[in-house]
Amino acid sequence: MLVTYDGIVISRRTVGESGVFIDILTDEQGIIEAAAHGANKINSDLLSSCSLFSYSTFCLSKSKLRYTVNSAKPKFSFHKLGLDIEKLALTSYFAQAVRFCTPSEQPQDSIVRFFAIALYEIMNGRSLSSVKAAFELRYSAELGFAPNLVACDNCGEYDCERGMYFLPKSAKLICADCFNKDYGGEHELLFPETLFAMRNIIFSPLEKCFKFSISKNAEIQLGAICEKYFLGSAEKSFPALNYYKGTVSEYK
Ligand SMILES: [Zn+2]
Repeated sequence: MLVTYDGIVISRRTVGESGVFIDILTDEQGIIEAAAHGANKINSDLLSSCSLFSYSTFCLSKSKLRYTVNSAKPKFSFHKLGLDIEKLALTSYFAQAVRFCTPSEQPQDSIVRFFAIALYEIMNGRSLSSVKAAFELRYSAELGFAPNLVACDNCGEYDCERGMYFLPKSAKLICADCFNKDYGGEHELLFPETLFAMRNIIFSPLEKCFKFSISKNAEIQLGAICEKYFLGSAEKSFPALNYYKGTVSEYK
């Protein structure tokens, strides 16, 4: 049976001299593992479309046991990401995250577009810390772990003058007027800019969720909150995240 899907190659493994297995992120079937025969050969038709982080239209033949790439046509190239170690490391973390969190052979809602937008923002020079935070928080929401950022969970206040606390464990906001010792678990008083960015990440259409400007202090707070929130939702640590942190000066 032949099927055609648009997707992004999120990992690849070489087997033998020229055999390649690729994991393709698709909306229709989640993660698909496919054999791409000869894709390592310099004259192969599949060389660029089956390279890592290639966004292509794949024509696949499906047998009972596996997919094989029949042909593939590149739609967009993210190859420039490979020229910058920090950008490549962050992309690898995103790839590891979606590979772990996206089920195989189950339809996904706009995951390919979300991943492509994240890579595009990395490639085009947006602050890596902001892209990382936006990816982590929005992806948590896409997986069904959206925090309630609409208003104070107790009184419904949207923006308390004395500030708003974020409670990561219960995934909600409590305004400073309502906050008391009963909320004694983990909590963080948000900079107004941090809350603005978090709301933008959660409530904007996908193409705008990475687009916000933020001062350095608030960006650091946003980064710490979103990373912890995502890792808590995924219940997993990612080696590629540690590698990324090793490449970026702010973590050294
Ligand atoms: Zn309140």
